[in-house]
This record gives sequence, C-alpha cells and structure tokens, in this order.
Amino acid sequence: MSSQLILVTGVTGFIAGHVVEQLLRAGYHVRGTARSAKVALLQKTNVPNLEYVAIDDVAVSDFTEALKGVDAVVHVASPLPGKASVEETMKTAIEGSLNVLRQAEKAGIKKFVVTSSFGSVLESSLKASFAGLNFTDSDWAPTTHEDVLANAEDPYYLYFASKVLAEKAVWDFAREHPNVDVATILPGLVFGPYAAIFPLPSNVSQLGTNSFPWALINGTAPPMAPPYIVDVRDVAKAHVLALGLGPVVQPESVGKKRFLINAGIYTWKQAAEYLKVVRPELNIQDLDKFADMPGPISTLDTSRARDVLKFGEYIDPQTTVVDVADALVTVSKTW
Ligand code: NDP
Repeated sequence: MSSQLILVTGVTGFIAGHVVEQLLRAGYHVRGTARSAKVALLQKTNVPNLEYVAIDDVAVSDFTEALKGVDAVVHVASPLPGKASVEETMKTAIEGSLNVLRQAEKAGIKKFVVTSSFGSVLESSLKASFAGLNFTDSDWAPTTHEDVLANAEDPYYLYFASKVLAEKAVWDFAREHPNVDVATILPGLVFGPYAAIFPLPSNVSQLGTNSFPWALINGTAPPMAPPYIVDVRDVAKAHVLALGLGPVVQPESVGKKRFLINAGIYTWKQAAEYLKVVRPELNIQDLDKFADMPGPISTLDTSRARDVLKFGEYIDPQTTVVDVADALVTVSKTW
C-alpha cells in the first residue's frame, strides 16, 4: 500500500486538502491537481511524497501526464453553490467526473473514490430535509435535467442537482465498466479547520462551507440549511477508508458502495448555545433570534459506512464547532 500513488483532484479545496493530508499520513504518495495559476504557490509548500500537476478544468483537461504511474484516483473537485455559472456548475460536476473516470480507466486505473453529497439521496430543496423522513444510501434524489432548468436561479438547488446528476453519471459509468471499482462518499454539510499543509484562505470568499460558522461567530445566524454536520477530518477519513476497500468484482455490487457520512443533526442555535459557554469572547447572536426549524428533521442513515468502512466514532459536532471557530479566528488574523 505504502508505495501507491494516488491522484487527488482539486487540492486547493477544503475537503481535498484534508484527503491529501490523511493519505500522506497513511503512507500513500499523492499527486494533487490544481489550476495552473495555483501550482507554483503550492509547490513552495514542499511536502514529502506530495507533488502537483496543473489541471485547469477537470471537465475538459487532458490528464495524460497527471495519470502517469497512478494507482487510484480520488475525485473531489466540483464547484460549491454560487461559485460558477449554471452551465459551468453542471458541466464541471458531470463532465468533470466522467472526464476523470474515462481518461483514468483508459490509462488502466481501476480504483476510484468520488466525492458526492447527502444531496444525492434527498431532493434538492429544504423540504426533504424537514419532512421527518429517514434517508439511506440506497435512496436517490428524483432531480432531473428539466428540474435544473426550472430552478436555475437558485444556487443551492443547482448545486445539489449537479451533485446528484454527477453521481448518477458516475454509477452509469461504473455499470458500463465492470472492471472498475468505484466508491462514492456522500457527506452531510462539512465544517472544520483547514488542512495544515496548504495555504490558508486569504479572504472571506474563500471560506467555502465554513462561511456558515464564520457568520455565526460574527453576530449573525447562518442561513437556514439542512442541519447535518460532519467534520472535514471525518470526511477525509471516509475517502481514505474507501480507497482501502478490496476491489469489487461483481458488477451488480457497484451500487452498494455509496457511503453517507454524517456525525448527526446539530442546529446553528445549538452551536451558538455551546459557543456562548466555551468561547464567550466571540460575537454570537442572541439565541432567541435563531429561526425555528421549518419541520421535523429528516435523518441520514450512515450504517453502511459503519458496517462496511468500519468507520468508528465520528468527531462530535461540539468539537467540530469549537475547532472551526478557533480556526476561523486564527485565519482571519492573517488577513
Ligand atoms: P471547495 O470549494 O473548497 O473546493 C472545490 C475544489 O474544486 C477547488 O480546489 C476548486 O478549484 C476545484 N474546482 C472547481 N471547479 C473546477 C474545475 N472546473 N476544474 C478544476 N478544479 C475545479 O469545496 P469543498 O472542498 O467544500 O468541496 C469539495 C467536494 O465535496 C465537492 O465535490 C463538493 O460538492 C463536495 N461536498 C462538499 C460539502 C461541503 O459541505 N463542503 C458537502 C458535501 C459534498 P479552485 O479553487 O481553483 O476553483
């Protein structure tokens, strides 16, 4: 295992940074993709067993050089809500996944871990999260391309739609290529500190999903969102565990390697209540100003990750919230 070279896409990203860190810690060698303008800066970090390759657009770039000598691919890169146009979001998510898979499969690579989202199992709206249902990793959001056109002005709808349609495309590819072994990781909303080996975000617009806790520690309530929470370090752990799973030989079992990863349900009001006690110096809004949940919260069943990945304990949401608050205070002092 230790001599294996893993290609990770989008290593300037929040989650991929931790995936790289944990792969290195587990003894893998890593090649990370980043846009060419960022590669020079990354190379300055000079981390042992980590190299970089320029990929400007996962949807269209040529991966020939990037894939040389690679044993497995972890495909993480995809735009978050509001980061790209409708066309670019859909294209990067769907064509980006397929471009990586196709080129890697042609290069003889058989092992893939792809980052999907909890939004792939429930409908791309707040309604499903507050319907009192239980979602498992056998469920699929019913989103279609027509739904995307009808809801194109809503960046969150668009984002979740891009994730479900991309993951469906990945599983179609896996069915057509029974020689490949794919696992998809479906995290809840991801928060936590930034990976230590990569440059920190240089302004608020680069905070990613940590912009929610950033709002929280700066006197406002984050916007209403499904109250699922998982620590970025646990999301990275799931990717590494999935990479270490044995190969799938029967094509019919490919649909059984989706893994919902979530620590639990935790509202911003609970986070605020806790931070007021443990970090009284932070500017947290009064608790009565947090909106009530619009309905009974649907649950995410993470038992497959527990049983198949042997995931073990999650970092508890209180730890995540304190660690992200501390990290954001530290990061903001560098601005
Ligand atoms: P980030 O925005 O931090 O990282 C996204 C990464 O993708 C960046 O490195 C970005 O590069 C890269 N990227 C985007 N578009 C392209 C493109 N066209 N070509 C090449 N690279 C591109 O997001 P996260 O780390 O939070 O998310 C990573 C993955 O996890 C995504 O697939 C996301 O959908 C998924 N996910 C995230 C959750 C969360 O709560 N954060 C929850 C569930 C799933 P650049 O910075 O140069 O644009």
